[in-house]
Amino acid sequence: MKETLGNVPASRLGMTLTDAHHAFFTALPKVELHCHLLGAVRHETFIALAEKSQAPLSRAEIDSFYTRGEKPVGVLRVLRALDDYLLTQADDLHRIAYEYLADAAAHQVRHSEFFWNPTGTVRVSKIPYADAQAAIVTAIRDAARDFGISARLIPSIDREADPDEAVALVDWMRTHRADEVAGLGIDYRENDRPPELFWKAYRDARNAGFKTTAHAGEFGMPWRNVETAVDLLQCDRIDHGYTIVDNPELAASYAERGIVFTVVPTNSYYLRTLAPDVWAEQHPMRRMPGLGLKIHPNTDDPTLHKVNPSEAWQLMFSHFGFSLAELRQFMLNGIDGAWVDEATRNAWRAAWTVEFDRLAATLPG
Ligand SMILES: [Zn+2]
Repeated sequence: MKETLGNVPASRLGMTLTDAHHAFFTALPKVELHCHLLGAVRHETFIALAEKSQAPLSRAEIDSFYTRGEKPVGVLRVLRALDDYLLTQADDLHRIAYEYLADAAAHQVRHSEFFWNPTGTVRVSKIPYADAQAAIVTAIRDAARDFGISARLIPSIDREADPDEAVALVDWMRTHRADEVAGLGIDYRENDRPPELFWKAYRDARNAGFKTTAHAGEFGMPWRNVETAVDLLQCDRIDHGYTIVDNPELAASYAERGIVFTVVPTNSYYLRTLAPDVWAEQHPMRRMPGLGLKIHPNTDDPTLHKVNPSEAWQLMFSHFGFSLAELRQFMLNGIDGAWVDEATRNAWRAAWTVEFDRLAATLPG
């Protein structure tokens, strides 16, 4: 077991991964549709930003943020610390976005759609929205030039804040429109903050022509939140959505409609609540493809979860027991879920399936 996967229970499948497997998972062409900018900050960059802003955080505290135990606590407190103390100017956002995209591109992520919570940046870090968005958009363009990765930004609602702040956020997005800003998301703690509270922001985003997605059915929150996100807010795709398995009829209808679910094999909630020996077996994600649902694996908070994109895909195989044929379908699901034009989608489908099959042929047995 590699050190970086040390926080998840050992695979029960008795599978030995060869060097060829590791090379396969690294080389696999990927889209990433579910990654939070503040959850992708390099450890050394966190330290550098803390020094620059003279943040009241000890080195031991920072190191603890980057330590993930067997029963990991959530990462939300780390994200708040970044807003509170570390991000003080737009350049800081350029740095962390550019570094995230460099790290993703090194794992053959060809296209990333990543989340950023503007409410914290504006209200807590005191960086104006226009400056912050421009810095991230510049990082996206710089990374495209330097690493060949394409990327889109998803400003995301902080659901712990007042719903009117979400309406203001969509207004900022409309006022400062950029091609790289594709749609609206929502994250932070779902408990007691169901999606319907934010219907106005979602309505405004849709009316303004933005795509939409929502974290729903995370933290064991009920399938009703998934239903609300899809049928009331009219989201184009769903982040997590695991509790949909508790309502097979609803799952069947979303399978029929081809709704893409961006899932996270290292999700803290299930690592914390399921016993290690049954974690992979009882994880609801494992049942989703059997219900016909289109799932696609992601890192979520890569540096905090201690997982990179190649490892997120590897876990689906080595721990959750999905077959290569299923992984191939997950790759296509990701392309279907990406907010790109049809010509790009078709080109990726054609080229990446050829690449996948060529890479899969290098694996033993
Ligand atoms: Zn997430």
